[in-house]
Amino acid sequence: MLYDNHGRAINYIRLAVTDRCNLRCFYCMPEEGIKYLPKSELLTYEEMLRLLEILATMGISKLRITGGEPFIRKEMMIFLQKASEIEGLNEIHITTNGTTTAHLVPQLKAMGIKSINLSLDTLDEARFYQITRRNVFPKVMEAFHALIEGGIRTKINMVVMTGQNIEDIIPMAELTKDYPISVRYIEEMPFNGAGSHYQTLEWNHRKILTHLKTRFPNIEKIPDAAYSTSANYKVPGYQGSVGIIAAYSRTFCGTCNRIRLTPKGLLKTCLYDDGVFNVRDIMRAGATNEQIKSTFLEALGNRAKDGYEAEEKRQFGLPIVESMSTIGG
Ligand code: SAM
Ligand code: SF4
Repeated sequence: MLYDNHGRAINYIRLAVTDRCNLRCFYCMPEEGIKYLPKSELLTYEEMLRLLEILATMGISKLRITGGEPFIRKEMMIFLQKASEIEGLNEIHITTNGTTTAHLVPQLKAMGIKSINLSLDTLDEARFYQITRRNVFPKVMEAFHALIEGGIRTKINMVVMTGQNIEDIIPMAELTKDYPISVRYIEEMPFNGAGSHYQTLEWNHRKILTHLKTRFPNIEKIPDAAYSTSANYKVPGYQGSVGIIAAYSRTFCGTCNRIRLTPKGLLKTCLYDDGVFNVRDIMRAGATNEQIKSTFLEALGNRAKDGYEAEEKRQFGLPIVESMSTIGG
């Protein structure tokens, strides 16, 4: 097992396999998009597989594939199949916008993908267009139903935003009546690629819970899984549950078990840091597996204690100008 300098166990990596996306969610990137990396700067699949193999021997057992939109990178399913065969990597999860996912569900199930987080900020087609700037709501709903029918554990990620989707908070919770899903309300974070939208946090975790209680006064707190970033609740008698992720308030740093790799191979030991070293560069310079391992160990030995300290230590300072599409969430 891997530990950081604050005694936190690290067993989870989030790998953003591309910075490209077919949506333009306004909280993630500006309308005109972001400047994508040239292909030569992206980690290749071979590089990603090598890294995952190394990390699996160090104690990383859980992988989340994210992006950008993972399924728009070519040959993603071949990569996923290979990743699913890595010894020690016991769980693979994927975060997707669902726009091209429905037909892949049987294959994903067959390769043992443990769960899918589907990003869906609203159940209203017009609001979906307003938020994502693309007209593909039916495709995402198709993916939702395919996932349920295909028996893959499904979580819905909903970023809660003033003036955008507050009216969806209750209908989203209602979805858990008939479906065994988890709906996760996420505080908006300032990673919008320097888009025009000014990020404020009116809808924090407390306000979201208070709002849920107006409609579901008997909502019950349920136990949170180990290392969970969400505080979880259930409406009695409903099949699914809801969770609130204090992503901006950062209440969960004390048990943070995760590291992140960006599409260009930057290791982030905290969502709020701006990268601690570039593993692609050392690999391309010919580093051995042992050298790569010791570089990871050194980075984990210098980890910020929480997201606030990580933010203070940013080399390029504030404000944050990255798009979440280059980080993976
Ligand atoms: N494209 C995929 C998707 O949307 O699911 C995967 C990548 S996306 C960057 C990962 C997650 O980050 C999504 O659930 C998205 O809603 C969330 N996200 C993006 N920008 C965010 C922001 N500014 N604040 C909070 N969550 C954000
Ligand atoms: Fe694309 Fe996901 Fe960002 Fe939306 S949140 S623009 S789907 S990467």
